[in-house]
Amino acid sequence: HTVAEVLPLTKYGGRHTVTLLPGVGIGPELMQGVRKVFAAAGVPVDFEEHVLPEQALPRSHLDRDEPFEHAVLSVQRNKVALKGNIEIKRRGGGQAGQEASRTVLLRRVLDLYVYVMEARSTPGVKTAKQPDVDVTLVRQNTEGEYFMLEHSPVCGAAESMKVVTADASERVARFAFEYARAQGRHRLTVVHNKATLPRSDGLFADVALAVGAEYPDVAVDVMSAGRCCAELLRDAAPFGVVLTPNLYGVYLGAILSGLVGGPGLLSGINYGPQAAVFEPGTRNKGTQIQGRGVANPVGMLRAAADMLSFVGQRGSGRQLRAAVDAALRRGTATPDIGGASSTDDFIQAVCDDMASARQPWDPD
Ligand code: ADP
Ligand code: MG
Repeated sequence: HTVAEVLPLTKYGGRHTVTLLPGVGIGPELMQGVRKVFAAAGVPVDFEEHVLPEQALPRSHLDRDEPFEHAVLSVQRNKVALKGNIEIKRRGGGQAGQEASRTVLLRRVLDLYVYVMEARSTPGVKTAKQPDVDVTLVRQNTEGEYFMLEHSPVCGAAESMKVVTADASERVARFAFEYARAQGRHRLTVVHNKATLPRSDGLFADVALAVGAEYPDVAVDVMSAGRCCAELLRDAAPFGVVLTPNLYGVYLGAILSGLVGGPGLLSGINYGPQAAVFEPGTRNKGTQIQGRGVANPVGMLRAAADMLSFVGQRGSGRQLRAAVDAALRRGTATPDIGGASSTDDFIQAVCDDMASARQPWDPD
């Protein structure tokens, strides 16, 4: 087994302990919403909250970032975290590459080698073109362009190392094919830019194809990242699972979230052998709307639902997902998706639904 699902999870007296990293921007207000919903539904989860500093950390001080270290220890102990965006503010005048992203670092330290985003349309949410998208993005999450080897050797020049290994490529490919099989997906698309990067992307694609040969029930096709963007925008229907190197996955994820209605709607999961970290599907801070009570809580609520299913509270996870869908179908929607509801209105709608659906004998 390559993901944390087989690990025993921290649980005292029937309650699960989950690390909470509220993050910056709209993260904390969305977490308040999650807490409210869990309280209303009587979900047996206790959060261990860790607030990380917003200031960037010079690379030379990485081993002295105590709040970060404590957060990592907490995730290692609990094996599960719910996370908002913890992106950093750079200090003015800082040299590129001298500071590390804590999101990238967290993925690295916890070996969260795969990122999964289910991009599925929701009835009731208007989309620009395609009403019925259902694509799973599986992204390499720890290497490639995010290897954190970027620096300026001299003024006026910068270097950034893209690192691809056969081991990491095989691991994520195997995850993707297993996932495709488990979800009954019959097509898997391997994304690359081999024409320009024959070594790194070539290795990624070759390894993926070799793994794919072991899965005759999943049809594989290989596609350049540019063509994949265009094809998804034209017609996403033929796609099932999209397996991608790290950086292209960011843009493919952005396209997919745009196709299903915007950045506030989807959730994403970081998996590794020791832990799983649940978060909204795109890395938005939402600086402009922070504190105005209009942030769309759907992505974070879906992340919370994914987390509940992961810790074994499958009944509550299903209920939460259904409550979110029902609210959207009834037209409860924040302004980013064309509605007039506030974050609180949406949370209240979900709370009411969860509270009325709550049954003491509900199986989990
Ligand atoms: P920032 O530069 O502050 O990070 P973002 O990239 O976070 O801005 O957001 C891009 C756009 O998407 C913004 O208009 C933001 O308001 C919107 N957005 C992102 N997430 C959400 C959300 N959860 N609810 C509503 N709007 C969102
Ligand atoms: Mg942004």
